[in-house]
Amino acid sequence: MIAGSGRLVIVAGPSGTGKTTIVRHLLGVFPRLAFSISACSRPRRPNERDGEDYYFLTADKFREKIAAGDFLEWEEVYPGSFYGTLRSEVERLWNADRHVIFDIDVKGALNLKKHFPKQSLTVFIQPPSVEALEQRLRARNTETPGILEQRVNKAKDELTYAPKFDCIVQNVDLQNAFSAAEKLVGDFLGDK
Ligand code: ADP
Ligand code: 5GP
Repeated sequence: MIAGSGRLVIVAGPSGTGKTTIVRHLLGVFPRLAFSISACSRPRRPNERDGEDYYFLTADKFREKIAAGDFLEWEEVYPGSFYGTLRSEVERLWNADRHVIFDIDVKGALNLKKHFPKQSLTVFIQPPSVEALEQRLRARNTETPGILEQRVNKAKDELTYAPKFDCIVQNVDLQNAFSAAEKLVGDFLGDK
């Protein structure tokens, strides 16, 4: 896999912290950035599109791709729900002369950086509190009560990973978080 001048902006943090919202904002600000569409085996939400938000695969198909070595990294982020970054996806975007932005879980983020240590910036999105996360997830209204509880419980462990990241963006006020993320990514990409 040849990286060329392609860079990686790897955004992570617990579910509900604001990753998707901040990544979408950055995509609008930096035209050379492109979103890495992950593969996953969880069910598609009604507002999601296959091949746009994720490549939705069955768990069996996902396991086949693991065995074939198709993933740069993958995790069983929640029991029975696999998520992973396909080598082919990063190659596709680099071949199009883009930098790549990822919205992945904390372990996947740190593993991905190990493949491309010099070209990657890892950004942890920090919520004001676990209670605020729970409120955001409830307001988003995309999970069943059981799944929501699972995500909030997992968040407590995920928050302990923050010091391992290159930088932390506090997402308390969304506009401030947008500005902080823009500054970090702008400095990292420079005029490249
Ligand atoms: P993630 O991708 O990390 O799961 P989302 O970007 O989907 O999180 O954000 C979760 C919910 O919280 C969304 O409904 C989003 O609009 C909302 N949200 C994001 N940032 C803030 C903020 N600073 N204050 C209040 N709500 C927010
Ligand atoms: P969601 O189901 O809310 O879309 O995502 C759940 C979690 O999986 C989030 O933390 C998200 O960042 C993570 N995730 C999404 N894609 C990937 C991926 O390719 N690899 C890993 N390791 N995690 C991912």
